[in-house]
Amino acid sequence: MSEIAQENVPQVEKGAKVQKLVGVKGMNDILPPDSARWEWLEAQVRGLMARYAYRSVRLPIVEPTALFVRGLGEVTDIVEKEMYSFEDRLNGEQLTLRPEGTAGLVRSVVEHNLLYEGGKRLYYMGPMFRHERPQRGRYRQFHQIGAEVLGFGGPEVDAELILLANDLWKVLGLKDVRLELNSLGQPAERQAHRTALIAHLEKHLDVLDDEAKRRLHSNPLRILDTKNPAMQNVVEAAPRLLDFLGEASLAHFNAVKAILDANGVAYSINPRLVRGMDYYNLTVFEFVTTSLGSQGTICGGGRYDYLVEQVGGKPAPAVGWALGVERVLELTKEQGEPLPGLAPDVYAIIPETTALPVAMQVLQSLRACGISALMHAGTGEGMGSMKSQFKKADSSGARFALVFGAEELAQGLVAVKSLRDGHGAQRTESLSAVSHWAHSLQSAT
Ligand code: ATP
Ligand code: MG
Repeated sequence: MSEIAQENVPQVEKGAKVQKLVGVKGMNDILPPDSARWEWLEAQVRGLMARYAYRSVRLPIVEPTALFVRGLGEVTDIVEKEMYSFEDRLNGEQLTLRPEGTAGLVRSVVEHNLLYEGGKRLYYMGPMFRHERPQRGRYRQFHQIGAEVLGFGGPEVDAELILLANDLWKVLGLKDVRLELNSLGQPAERQAHRTALIAHLEKHLDVLDDEAKRRLHSNPLRILDTKNPAMQNVVEAAPRLLDFLGEASLAHFNAVKAILDANGVAYSINPRLVRGMDYYNLTVFEFVTTSLGSQGTICGGGRYDYLVEQVGGKPAPAVGWALGVERVLELTKEQGEPLPGLAPDVYAIIPETTALPVAMQVLQSLRACGISALMHAGTGEGMGSMKSQFKKADSSGARFALVFGAEELAQGLVAVKSLRDGHGAQRTESLSAVSHWAHSLQSAT
């Protein structure tokens, strides 16, 4: 190494205290063994999406702020107080870390004219960002998986999406998930309901909290979504949107229900289900559980026939849902099947560093045969005692240890020692015929 490079090696002065850096509040590291559960869930989702012939999209995490303001509506929790927005220091653009996936997906579909040759069934997965108070099931960086169908206006795709989500709970082994269903009708029906709703709420101004008062004329429907217990009575007595639906909206709703009935999907009608974003119309739904405390909604969605137009596209109907990965994973921990372990098939014990070249060649051959092999690695000053190597082998959970002792190597052999069914069972195998015995190391799971 040259002297200049040496000088550039960062060094902590002796005795100096270096402050430990920690992650951002509400943004979590996903570490082993949990990361395996995440990957398992993602694999289940990809498999199921393929069976429904939905195709995946991978979209940017940063979008223009205007997309969410226009798409989600200005008077929504997200746009009012939850967005991570910032100005691009280099060109002054107003940008936002995506708080949800639908707006970006619609932006992309419009930008690339994806509906040109007909409707599309798409899905995405990835991190979303909302500045909320972190608590169980509620984080600032969290993950969603979403399915969206664009370009089809009929109730059959609403029902298909619900069947898809319902299948996912089955695949994941979830037991306690209920479906709640409502219809928000069409804009004219909502307008008539809105007038009646405002009149009702105005009679109870004394009970309304500040947020409700603020939303009374801008977004009264959202008041029905309140979690404030003091307002529950007023909200329960409010005029129901379902009673304002015209014939076409009712027919759409009934068609969705008929398909669910025919497929044995249980649901309950919740006339107060309105959902957080402004963009919904007709069918809205949520999958809820009682097993996660107050953060019990694991998936929500509905029809959003006006969003494509809102984002500047040619009008096209659309419907979709998004699930919260953290909440679903917590449920799978409680209710799902246990996952297969992460233990490697074999642990390689290397008594002397001189054995490394041959040992690592053998491990490469094993891996090429599909065997998962973990090699003992030293401290930089030798490989450590046999005793400590065997201890590491045991705690790795591997079923076999391969011991690359000098004596065996000299004869072209390696010792294979069973670690699980009582220590001691030992045999030797040939170094030159790895593929012949590799499969015998595969863990029986
Ligand atoms: P909530 O009423 O719980 O705030 P929401 O209506 O804001 O939910 P959506 O925007 O519909 O939620 O997002 C879909 C799903 O994403 C939710 O049902 C939930 O499972 C999950 N989710 C939403 N916000 C968070 C968060 N901050 N942390 C973890 N998961 C979340
Ligand atoms: Mg929310």
